Amino acid sequence: MKLSIIVPCKNEEGNVTKLYEEINRVLDKLKYEIIYIDDGSTDNTIEELRKLYEKDDRHIKVLSFSRNFNKEAAMLAGLDYSSGEYISIIDADLQQNPKYLKEMYEFLENNKEYDEVAMIMKERNAESKFMAFCKGAFYKVMNKLCDIRLEKAASDFRMFRKSVKDALINLNERNRFSKGLFSWIGFKIKYLYYDVEPRNNGKSSFGFINSIKYAFSGILAFSSKPLKLSTLLGSLSVLSSIVYLIIVLINLVSLENILIHILFIVMLFMFGIQFLLMGIIGNYISIINTEVRKRPIYIVKEKLGFNDETIL
Ligand code: UDP
Ligand code: MG
Repeated sequence: MKLSIIVPCKNEEGNVTKLYEEINRVLDKLKYEIIYIDDGSTDNTIEELRKLYEKDDRHIKVLSFSRNFNKEAAMLAGLDYSSGEYISIIDADLQQNPKYLKEMYEFLENNKEYDEVAMIMKERNAESKFMAFCKGAFYKVMNKLCDIRLEKAASDFRMFRKSVKDALINLNERNRFSKGLFSWIGFKIKYLYYDVEPRNNGKSSFGFINSIKYAFSGILAFSSKPLKLSTLLGSLSVLSSIVYLIIVLINLVSLENILIHILFIVMLFMFGIQFLLMGIIGNYISIINTEVRKRPIYIVKEKLGFNDETIL
């Protein structure tokens, strides 16, 4: 197999067939497989995929999860089950035009020294200014806090050689933040630009709250600095309380009236810091907890197009 195309799908009944047709048109004679991962869709995605498989079992493979595990898990399943010399990840909703698959493929064919091509979105047409600002801020914070460098706006829309896939699969952490993992494993990456298209059908699964959760899990996965923050803030608050004590001792008489207010402020401040730090530590502990439990990252309920030999 020359090229494996991984497509995570959650509620994409109106997109999977169109995507297949587009890919088929663009790649034409190339030996490729499309691995659709139905990530616990609640619409008719799996029925559409079964139909597609019946129509073209030479190109179509399907994995269906027992429930929604998230896009990261779907991408990993795709990697685990792919057999291509090159592997690519693309969204199901046609926001990432399949014509770029050809571009990435040709680049890798002609530039043996590169291991990977990652697409950077030029502009996100449908995205609000607010969301764009939040994303910009996230990349700034992430790059300050973490030891790895994240290329701003580089998506999961990529193509890479098998060696990159093997490296990714070998990272067996459960809390997966693939943008970070892609950066952490290294390799020689070429960045190309693409225009984001509007979503073909359905609606985005990543709302504002989900994006915040995702950003936060990325920071926790790749940086220990928030943990160290506790020492810094702790020392600062102790220091300020000592300074405060000195001020109170010096101005004992004149301060009497506002003392009670200051006391409240200080108490609130201290409680605030305590809770903040407990929260941060709690989050790290929860990550350790999931890593220690070693539950599988996904559970496959149904497979189409895979021989038993490919089952992991
Ligand atoms: N997706 C998935 N599991 C999820 C959420 C999303 O497999 O829990 C898939 C989705 O079907 C799509 C891709 O991930 O193919 C990107 O999702 P979406 O278009 O909702 O995100 P956005 O483009 O808004 O970032
Ligand atoms: Mg999308």
